[in-house]
Amino acid sequence: MAEQRPCRCLLMASGQEDMARLVAEYIATLPEESRVSDESYHARLALCESCEALHSGTCARCGCYVEARAAKRSLSCPATPPVWVAE
Ligand code: SF4
Repeated sequence: MAEQRPCRCLLMASGQEDMARLVAEYIATLPEESRVSDESYHARLALCESCEALHSGTCARCGCYVEARAAKRSLSCPATPPVWVAE
């Protein structure tokens, strides 16, 4: 089987549907007050999608699945300076 190359894309787009579903389930367990709004979430992920550190849904700077990290209000992007910041 041919080895898949990392893409600058989120989990679902990288073909990792099972992990994308697990991350979505994890986000759903977060208390609402600790989650960003849908608007902020999608804005954060759009920034990740144009970042060279994104490899198949994982941030190469911190090892997080960006779809999970971006959902948390208290977290910032790990880059220096951060691309998106805690709210
Ligand atoms: S460095 Fe920041 S913007 Fe880039 S992929 Fe990681 S979390 Fe996203």
